[in-house]
Amino acid sequence: MLKPTPFFILLVCFILLPVSCLAAAGPLSGRIIVLDPGHGGTEDGAVANGVREADVNLAVGLKLRDRLAAAGAAVVMTRTADRSVASPGSALPAELQARVDLSRAADADIFISIHANSHFKPETAGVITFYPPERPTELARAIQEGLVGQTGAVDKKIRPANFYVLRNSEIPAVLVETGFLTNQEEARKLADCAYQEAIAEGICQGVVRYFSSRER
Ligand SMILES: [Zn+2]
Repeated sequence: MLKPTPFFILLVCFILLPVSCLAAAGPLSGRIIVLDPGHGGTEDGAVANGVREADVNLAVGLKLRDRLAAAGAAVVMTRTADRSVASPGSALPAELQARVDLSRAADADIFISIHANSHFKPETAGVITFYPPERPTELARAIQEGLVGQTGAVDKKIRPANFYVLRNSEIPAVLVETGFLTNQEEARKLADCAYQEAIAEGICQGVVRYFSSRER
């Protein structure tokens, strides 16, 4: 068994130092971000064209988590598996409140809920970022811009909405609809790993831009 010499320890420190410095100096360092992949467990969300919303939301959420963490953020996920957040069998308000509670407990800076959409017209496609009514729109604008820029999806603009997780968040909160599963072409894309990466990259860029514009 080799005993680590002081030189060896010093060498390891030199190798590790630049890595930790990079993380500490990342554009999102010191930020706490809650990511909420919508639905999960017995709640499928929208299901169309063979694609289940809960699965897309989680896949995008995990990819986004990795990007935000690489930029220095502390990321809190409401779920990292195909399950509910409240105890199984809870009513919908309790399920949604459990997600809000997690965000409050984390003392987070921003809350991002990830969803995919459905519409009775199959031709309807595009991305929408919702924000709570009568609250600032900067975060929603930055994320929508990043998302449209990275995916090339139809820009269905930012919109106010009274969704539970938005109206009950005290911090800047958005609910991102990443596309329409009822649109055959968009459903195929939303299930595609590379497209999910593009969504994650777009949202991440929007978050970085949001925080950097607040520092000026
Ligand atoms: Zn949904």
